[in-house]
Amino acid sequence: MREIDVSQITEALKQLFIDANRVLPEDLESCIAAASQKETSPIGKAVLCDLCENMNAARELEIPICQDTGMAVVFAEIGQEVHLTGGSFEDAVNEGVRQGYLEGRLRCSVAADPIRRGNTGDNTPAVIHLRLVPGDKLTITAAPKGFGSENMSRIKMFTPSAGVDEIIDFVAETVRAAGGNPCPPVVLGVGIGGDFEKCALLAKQALCRPVSQRNSDPFYADLEKRMLERVNELNVGPQGFGGLTTALAVNIEQFPTHIAGLPVAVNVGCHVTRHKKITI
Ligand code: SF4
Repeated sequence: MREIDVSQITEALKQLFIDANRVLPEDLESCIAAASQKETSPIGKAVLCDLCENMNAARELEIPICQDTGMAVVFAEIGQEVHLTGGSFEDAVNEGVRQGYLEGRLRCSVAADPIRRGNTGDNTPAVIHLRLVPGDKLTITAAPKGFGSENMSRIKMFTPSAGVDEIIDFVAETVRAAGGNPCPPVVLGVGIGGDFEKCALLAKQALCRPVSQRNSDPFYADLEKRMLERVNELNVGPQGFGGLTTALAVNIEQFPTHIAGLPVAVNVGCHVTRHKKITI
């Protein structure tokens, strides 16, 4: 059994949320830079160049890339051989979020109650997804999620008779209806299979996969390509001003499902699709 003091989790998450809000994953940055070269719409191209300038400024000035520093989503994979000491895991995660958002001067965006509103004042609680895995390591991913894009996400319970074309239509229609709201170019996390909540979780997990990494199953890698092409034909363009670049990547995660169903979830991520991971 390997002992890990929960204070290490707090410290790690504090820094992960600060860093994730200031610097995008390298491959996403490169993808936006490459799109700015290829974009043929003059306004679209200018917007993409502005986004690149904004990313560089955030890095140099050590400030967030976007004013919406997101709801704190945390994925944790805890090895079965790990014994956590020094307190509760959940408290340690929320303390890391609290310290990160307050010390990093990140906007606190969590309403204390979904209907009566208010603000928790420190961006807690985090949305925590925990998985027990073999081994003696602890891997945590911090994924701050902005709601301009989250609000545009959709789930549909298809019947098994739905074909691939219907699924592609659903993904494209989700992006078309969203227009400029999710601050395109977007990154799409698509969950296929599982049940209702598993499918939504797959879509969120898909957003945490590097945009440069295609699905390991050639069938789904091809589907990712087809969805991306279809979405980029919509002419929504950078920030909704029209152009070739509506989406930067489509990441699919799939899972077995019930014989009577075919759930599909689209978690829309904006061009600031942030995630940062550490293994302790
Ligand atoms: S959708 Fe993304 S880029 Fe737009 S305001 Fe929200 S976090 Fe910022």
